[in-house]
Amino acid sequence: MKIARYEMDGQVHYGELAGESLKRLTGDWFGSLRPTGAVDPLDRARLLLPLQPTRIFGAGLNYVSHIEEMNLKRPPVPLLFMKPPTAAVGPGEPIVYPRDATDVHFEGELAAIIGKRVRRATEANALDALFGYTCANDVSERAVQRVEMSLGHLLIGKSYDSFCPLGPVIATGLDPTNLLLETRVNGKVRQSVRTSDLLFSVAQLIAYLSHAITLLPGDVILTGTPSGVGPIVVGDVIDVTVEGVGVLSNSVVAEAPR
Ligand code: MG
Repeated sequence: MKIARYEMDGQVHYGELAGESLKRLTGDWFGSLRPTGAVDPLDRARLLLPLQPTRIFGAGLNYVSHIEEMNLKRPPVPLLFMKPPTAAVGPGEPIVYPRDATDVHFEGELAAIIGKRVRRATEANALDALFGYTCANDVSERAVQRVEMSLGHLLIGKSYDSFCPLGPVIATGLDPTNLLLETRVNGKVRQSVRTSDLLFSVAQLIAYLSHAITLLPGDVILTGTPSGVGPIVVGDVIDVTVEGVGVLSNSVVAEAPR
């Protein structure tokens, strides 16, 4: 099932995306969503950020091809960072190029959404805590990131407002182990990989994070980006496609001058 959050006629609804229709849903987001019986046409709806993340965790260097293009070593444990929930924007919302930025890159990724509170999940039962999956763009300011990482940390380079587009829907019931992930910039394919190439799987990331941190409903885990990352400029349109989810499309705009 694909679940969307959308605005129509000034009202915000949740709905199951079915072809060109949205079947309105009611109930608890992570519990028992059920149809209200109302159906809205997709072409009259504006899809929104599917959920406001509780927290956003990101895995760095989690595809071998990306590790090699960055001239870095394979991490022995998942290399994790956080992005603030204020970085999240929805499908169609702009990525704002900060006026102090010089080297902003796209990173197409599969994002996993936690649906149940979990601590000390095992690799075998980790996926029981999942709600579903969506597409993500882990937008990164590389100049800032390089300085931060040379000092052994990473925050600002990943965390500007709008640096975490998510959407367009949350897909439930997917097998995350072999999904096609593609990123296009202005229509040209720049990243294309299957999630079978992940160094640490979704289940391993959940098990690793939750050995220390209680994961909460609404937590988002960005699973890492494959090779092909590159700079983006104002005016670019970035489309991230995850098989079984859909296409997350965002354009880049300049931050308003002071
Ligand atoms: Mg990333």
